[in-house]
Amino acid sequence: MDAFSPFPPAWTKDAVHAQPFGCPTCGAGSREAKQVWLNRRAPVFTDGRKRKWQEFYQCECDSVWWAWSSDRPPLDLDGNSDEGGQRPGEGS
Ligand SMILES: [Zn+2]
Repeated sequence: MDAFSPFPPAWTKDAVHAQPFGCPTCGAGSREAKQVWLNRRAPVFTDGRKRKWQEFYQCECDSVWWAWSSDRPPLDLDGNSDEGGQRPGEGS
């Protein structure tokens, strides 16, 4: 899997736009996704300077959704859980 591939993977074609950011089926965040693809080839400019692009996710529940990068909450980096749900057996 290459999240930065210039070509969209086949699984992205059925993606639905998720608002707010997260799986529309189970509510999982991007960190729960099994696959990720970022459409950075086609950024959209907002406010003249900011760029955003589509981020596609295939959730662990097999739903495929996308959202704008600008809608992603900035908490993927700090490791804190943004979801209440704890899942046993998440380790390898
Ligand atoms: Zn899901």
